[in-house]
Amino acid sequence: MVIVNDLTEPDMPRSIEASFDAVIVGAGFAGLYMLHRLRGLGLTARVFEQASDVGGTWYWNRYPGARCDAESLAYSFAFSEDLEQEWEWTERYSPQAEILQYAKHVAERFDLLRDIRFGRRVDAATWSESKQRWTITTEQGDKVTGQYCIMATGCLSVPQLPAIEGLESFAGKRYQASQWPHQAVSFKGQRVGIIGTGSSGIQAIPVIARDADHLTVFQRTPNFSVPAKNSLLEQSWVRQFKANYRAHRNNHRRGLGSGFGDLDIEPLTEVQEPILMESLSSEQANAVLQSAWDRGGAFFMGAIGDAMMNETANSFVQKFVHDKIKQVVKDPQTAAALCPDNHPIGTRRICVDIDYFETYNRANVRLLNLRQSPIEQITATGIQTAAEFVELDTLVLATGFDAMTGALLAMDIVGTGGVKLGDAWSEGPKAYLGLSVNGFPNLFTITGPGSPSVLSNMLVSIEQHVDWITDCITYMQDKGFRICTADKMAQKQWVGHVNDVANGTLFPKGGSWYLGANVKGKPRVFMPYAAGVGPYREICDQVVEDGYTGFQFSA
Ligand code: NAP
Repeated sequence: MVIVNDLTEPDMPRSIEASFDAVIVGAGFAGLYMLHRLRGLGLTARVFEQASDVGGTWYWNRYPGARCDAESLAYSFAFSEDLEQEWEWTERYSPQAEILQYAKHVAERFDLLRDIRFGRRVDAATWSESKQRWTITTEQGDKVTGQYCIMATGCLSVPQLPAIEGLESFAGKRYQASQWPHQAVSFKGQRVGIIGTGSSGIQAIPVIARDADHLTVFQRTPNFSVPAKNSLLEQSWVRQFKANYRAHRNNHRRGLGSGFGDLDIEPLTEVQEPILMESLSSEQANAVLQSAWDRGGAFFMGAIGDAMMNETANSFVQKFVHDKIKQVVKDPQTAAALCPDNHPIGTRRICVDIDYFETYNRANVRLLNLRQSPIEQITATGIQTAAEFVELDTLVLATGFDAMTGALLAMDIVGTGGVKLGDAWSEGPKAYLGLSVNGFPNLFTITGPGSPSVLSNMLVSIEQHVDWITDCITYMQDKGFRICTADKMAQKQWVGHVNDVANGTLFPKGGSWYLGANVKGKPRVFMPYAAGVGPYREICDQVVEDGYTGFQFSA
């Protein structure tokens, strides 16, 4: 088997032992902005990043068709008005290369690179009670200390390989969506197979199909997907939108939803009341959905406001999408296999596609329904299912991630009393506000479990967390505190609240990676906070206003 990527890093020189005010793990958007804000406080910081450049998820996920499912003008930093005015996005949904370029631009523009060490994988972080500092080590031999340790490790950064017998025996080329090579990949003249029909697969399939001789899609669970309706951005529209950028940003931050919306030229002046199913006739509901469908994008899931709470409303939306799939896909059997029927729409991450269902009308594309005939094994030359053997030259895996906790638990994080994070989280992640973990002083988790994170526009949530952490550290400096830790009872109540909110929705019925359901042995806990970015921000702000309720500080 030839695994094609170029992820081998050159040997890095061993760093000398050094101490910093803060150590940040990860140089994606979260790590970059955190470094910028800490610099603003006059603190010293060291960032460790395992990749050879900035960008986080946009560094790794270079598969064909990779692009953001949040719109460019919303999926961007709001902290610098000059940056947001000067940077020019070209498409409604930015392709991966453009977002990576943006991350590099931010790093250079704010002179961040000098504090980042690339090619360094942090393997351990240990709190010393006597020194009141964290010691952070890397696999490459670095050892540094920091008063604060800030995890900017991303929610979807640990790839998940399928547990299929014989995977390693495949003798053709094998690519993984989340570890895609940096050089161009051609599928010309090849028989390609792809496993995985989540967001990554659904973006990659149409592009690979246009290039390959033949593409077989091995689908276990069909997913709901809505058309992106991507287009080049009209510069006159962009100018008008940017003229009101502050008001738009404010709406993204304060809204009831996920921080994706409000992309009309005129900013919303008041919070929009959700349209509830019970207030609509079937014709009206279809018209509302059609209008959202025509507009394109994940916004579709917000069209009927109680679709994530009310099974009747959800079933109505499901049927609308099933009908769309059946209208597009010509072969009735393929269309039926593509209609998701085992989870309410939206309870698994809604996918946003360009020509996904249309791709199944191509003569060189075939859908294999693994629910009818599961994969039995992978051999040197292809995939054996219960029904047939499919010969392949190339295999693409788009099989997801150990989400939200994967990157944190991959490190050996040891808090007070020698307690390991892995033990503290043996029944699932427990964090106060998704920001701080009891027993792990001065450790912050940007977009950690228990915060809106993956249910939101990540840039909105990253900025909110980084700003909150910066304010907390400023508060500690002003008051002469050196240690901040989440209170056990406050954490317990927050975790209970996160569960209660999730249980008031249909999310737990999704059986998705939100629940850890895609990783064998992972505790089934709904990890993100589902109440929306605006209400979450209000809670975090209130905690500060009330003197950091739920946190304990000491000198
Ligand atoms: P994913 O949604 O977890 O999908 C993984 C796919 O692999 C599923 O279809 C899964 O099937 C399949 N799979 C896993 N193991 C398998 C096996 N042994 N046999 C057959 N099929 C198997 O992963 P993803 O597509 O990488 O997306 C993860 C998340 O990343 C998204 O939900 C989204 O939040 C984010 N993302 C965002 C974008 C964007 O912004 N545009 C793009 C890509 C990803 P089952 O469902 O049956 O397990």
